[in-house]
Order: sequence, then C-alpha cells, then structure tokens
Amino acid sequence: MNKATPPLSEHAILVINCGSSSVKFSLIRPHTGQSILTGLAECLLTPQASIKINYIDKDEKHITALNAPYDHQTALTLLVETLIAHKLVSEIIAVGHRVVHGGEQHAKPVIIDEKVKKTIKQLAQLAPLHNPANLIGINACQHAFANLPQIAVFDTAFHQSMPKKAYLYGIPYSLYQEHAIRRYGFHGTSHYFVAKQAANLLKKPLNQCDLISAHLGNGCSVTVIKNGESVDTSLGMTPLEGVMMGTRSGDIDAGIVIHLVEQLGYTIEQVDTLLNKQSGLLGLSELSNDCRTLETAMFDENNPDSAQATLALSVFCYRIAKSIASFSASLTSLDALIFTGGIGENSAWVRKEITKHLGLLNINISEEKNNEMCFGTSGNIAADNARACYVIATNEEWVIAEQSAKLLANTQGE
Ligand code: AMP
Repeated sequence: MNKATPPLSEHAILVINCGSSSVKFSLIRPHTGQSILTGLAECLLTPQASIKINYIDKDEKHITALNAPYDHQTALTLLVETLIAHKLVSEIIAVGHRVVHGGEQHAKPVIIDEKVKKTIKQLAQLAPLHNPANLIGINACQHAFANLPQIAVFDTAFHQSMPKKAYLYGIPYSLYQEHAIRRYGFHGTSHYFVAKQAANLLKKPLNQCDLISAHLGNGCSVTVIKNGESVDTSLGMTPLEGVMMGTRSGDIDAGIVIHLVEQLGYTIEQVDTLLNKQSGLLGLSELSNDCRTLETAMFDENNPDSAQATLALSVFCYRIAKSIASFSASLTSLDALIFTGGIGENSAWVRKEITKHLGLLNINISEEKNNEMCFGTSGNIAADNARACYVIATNEEWVIAEQSAKLLANTQGE
C-alpha cells in the first residue's frame, strides 16, 4: 500500500462482519464515519443465497442481487469486482474484521498474522458459533485482498477493563485458572461507540463519564461504564447470560439445566437449542422474537396473541430494568442511561416500560421526547430535572474502521 497512497480524507477501511451464513460489509471513511458502500450476503451455502451491494454515490444506490448457492468467497469476489468497477480499491488502506471472542489475550485491535489466527481458532471453544465464521471471513479476505493489512477488532475487548470481582463466577477458582471460565462480555464496540457519543452530548471527556448502556437488539446486554471504561456487563462467558433477548433466555437458575436433563430427559444439544434459539421473547410470546411483531400484536386487542405478546415484552423490560438498577452498585455517580440497538433506538414503548421501574435512580422520561425519538435520531429523552437518558444510534462499523485506521497509523509511525 505504499504505491500512490490516497490523501487522508480519501482513506477507506473495508469492514467485514462474517457470520456462519452471512457476510456484512461496509466501506467507511474512518475520519468522518461516512459509508461509501455497504453490502449484505445472506443465506450463503443455500439455494436462497443473495448478495446485495449498495454503492452510495450522490444519493444514488446501485444494487446487485444474485440468487445461487454462493459461499463467502463468492460474496467477497463480487465485492472486489464492485470495488474495482467503481475505482474504489486504491482508497482502501486496510480490512477491519469484527471478531467476537478475543479472550484475555486481546484487549485491543491487532494486525492479523498466523499467531492471531491461531488464537482466534483456539477461542472458538468459547464462541463456537462466531469465531469459526469470523475466521472464514479473514481467510477469504486474505485471499481477495492479499496486499492489504487485515485487522481484528474484538467484541470482548472493551470489557477487558472489568475488575476480577465483576468477571469471576462463584465457582471453583481452578475453572478460571485452568479453563478460562469467566465473564468476557460482548457488544463491546457498540457500548464503546455510544459511550463516546454520550460523552459528546454531556460535553465531558469520556474518561470522566459514568454511564449505563443498554444495547437492546436481537442480542441484548447492559454495560456499566466508569470513567469511560467498562467495569461490568451482563453477557458472560458466552452470549447467553444476562438480560432476556430475542431467542436467548438470559439468566436462569442453573438448576433448571440439571432438571431439564435429569428429570425431563433433554439432551445437552436440546438444552442448548432451547436456551439459545427457542427462549427469550420468542419462547415466552410463542409468537415471535421480533419486537415489532410483538408490539403490533400487543396493541391490537382483537389479536389472539395480544396477551402473550404483552407478557413477553413485560418480562423482557422488567428484567432489563433490574439489570440496570443492579449495575448502579458499581458506581458512585451516574451521568446518563443510554438506549441503543434496534429495540433501544426504535421502541418508545420498551423505553417507557423499562424506565417506569427506575424512578429510584431519578430516571424519568418525557413522554413527548420519547415518542419523537426513533429511526436513527439521537438525543436526550429525560423529563425536566431527571437524570439524562439518551437514545443513541449505534455504529459498530465506524468503531471498527476508526480503530483499524488508528492501529495502522500507530504501526506505520513506529
Ligand atoms: P438489531 O439486532 O440491533 O438489528 O435489532 C433487531 C431488533 O430491533 C428486532 O427485535 C426488531 O424488531 C427491533 N426493531 C427494529 N425496528 C423497530 C421498531 N421500529 N420498533 C420496535 N422494534 C424495532
């Protein structure tokens, strides 16, 4: 990348978020956060595979969609062709990968080499659904963009500042020492991004901000941030602990697992599926994991699913409120509560229902401001004289682009 390096303002980072059957990508200018191109390949390795690429050019969108049993490599090949066609390749200075689990080894982004790949592979033990898929993306990009540095940005990294009292479980210490069983936390890039935005809104440096951040999407987590650093978070060794989610149970009595296996004859695989894929909003509502579907059913009293949808959403909100309140134990002051993620950013009803339980923390919201806040808008929805309560649209891709660019600049400056 030393040939004709573009000026700083034209630098772009290609951000890759690779799942087991999907690849999301964005070409981002790290200095402004502007997306030049975004894309999503879904249902890969099935006949329903589709790849869409939006090239954002003077407000025009060029969309390419194909249908065939494509794999990750095919999706990236199409991406490379699109980048070449729009003369964007020369602007790319690095590829930034979202990697879910960095264990205790990675508290910061890192340039990917064989050693880093080996660690990501070993950590697949702790994130079997995510890390192998992230590696597929890394390998495919090393093939497709052989001359570019590949950088890993870890979901767990932001939480590596947690103290031992927050990350240890009340189980024999040897399990931590010998098998790395501890809380790691996830959604780190999202919590970090919204914390930085909140610091801007508070007009304070991030390292002087005390915040509680609720990332509510298909996956949900609450993080407590003291002096700008994560000091505790609700997701655990795996993304199953903590508050209730779309299809994941969140916290349950661990004795239920034993009961399911010993008394009800469940296999471990069945328990895994039950807790990860059939629980949460879906399991309780018996209707959907999608908050929009549940709200529609809840507000329609003629809908036979209305009562069950209301029940599921009420349990969801109460458990989140309890988590937020319990995290106040980590702080001596609190500047603001933050809502983010698909539900946190868009559902006024969920925000109202959660904050209804938080009056003791002086978290009270204005009905009018709450109802106005959705679809990518950010701001304070607190009632007069109440503690700040921000709705902030998250942007994990920008964090990955920004951190990749920073790492690259530091490395090149060495
Ligand atoms: P995410 O995982 O962050 O993309 O969030 C997905 C969740 O956000 C799903 O449960 C969606 O139903 C929910 N969501 C998206 N838009 C809305 C909306 N306008 N109202 C309520 N929930 C929404």
